Amino acid sequence: MRILFYSIKDFEHPYLLEANKKNFPVKMTESALGTETASFAEGFTVVSIFTGDDASAPVIKKLKEVNVKYIAIRAAGYDNVDLQAAKENAIQVANAPAYSPYSIAEHALALLFAMNRKLILANDQVHHQNFKMNNLIGYDLHGKTVGIIGTGNIGGTLLKILNGFNCKLLAYDIRRNDDLVTNYNANYVSLEQLCRESDIISIHTPLNEQTKYLINKNLISIMKKGVMLINTGRGACVNTTDVLHYLESGHIGYFGADVYEKERGLFFHDWTGKALNDDLLKRLLMLPNVLITPHQAFATKEALGNIAETTFYNIECWAAGRCSDNELYKPAINYSSLSATNNL
Ligand code: NAD
Repeated sequence: MRILFYSIKDFEHPYLLEANKKNFPVKMTESALGTETASFAEGFTVVSIFTGDDASAPVIKKLKEVNVKYIAIRAAGYDNVDLQAAKENAIQVANAPAYSPYSIAEHALALLFAMNRKLILANDQVHHQNFKMNNLIGYDLHGKTVGIIGTGNIGGTLLKILNGFNCKLLAYDIRRNDDLVTNYNANYVSLEQLCRESDIISIHTPLNEQTKYLINKNLISIMKKGVMLINTGRGACVNTTDVLHYLESGHIGYFGADVYEKERGLFFHDWTGKALNDDLLKRLLMLPNVLITPHQAFATKEALGNIAETTFYNIECWAAGRCSDNELYKPAINYSSLSATNNL
């Protein structure tokens, strides 16, 4: 079973090589999957993709034409894959769920602290030998109201961490997690109440038709003045134009994001010294109360190891004629045995 890895970054190599226990023949390319590059997959049974790859219906059709049978996503989110098209073309798709919810939850917390305690500004000032701290005043996290939107693996992990800070925890999800209520003081409320009452709001939903622009001017306008908004989910879960408007008016106090709705083709590349053809991002980056990181929340050693292990686990299942428990739709194949050994 030959595997083509798209969008490979240098730092992934050792983890993937280590996880390839069955020595599948692999090829790695830095190119992203798209209409222009789908033909690279000719001769490969499996393609492995990341968040910036385009696996929309036309691309899936091209993959089918070159006989690709499986897509192994090296990520938890799969908003970039048209699952219906995959199903229609009998291409099986599996992701790497819950590879390390800590890595993303802790990154959301890092954004929170860096913005609240003005760490970037302090570091800059100190390096210029300015040791004054007039503009470095933050607030105690203790006792603040934090709203978590999406209380799955990552949002739930962040909620548990924040419970240790004695925050008042508001939660919103289409599925309630009773463990968070019973053991971690979560209080499920409506999205409107969460937005009205929270000092800090952190977004952890997947991107889909229901969550696209979930956070928009209607909800932002009822948020507390000075609210801190954090997004490590997917860029388009917030309407960035609305966020910019409310940042510029001073209504949003801080915006921290690891994801950006127009990040494809931009993030994961070095644009130093080149013109940035994105006015929205340029205006965001000019604001001192905005902290953007380049989709790096998953980038811990543990997460990278687990992503690689899960990716090869999925591929090993397929090679052995089994269904992986990470498949994103039930394939119309009568597998003789189902495996349930993977809990990564
Ligand atoms: P998860 O499936 O465990 O949790 C997602 C939660 O969102 C679930 O509880 C689900 O019920 C809830 N949800 C779905 N639709 C909703 C809606 N319309 N309204 C409210 N809640 C809704 O997923 P996870 O592992 O916690 O990951 C969440 C997302 O984080 C992923 O889909 C991915 O987009 C993103 N992510 C980002 C990074 C990063 O590096 N920045 C890394 C991993 C995942």
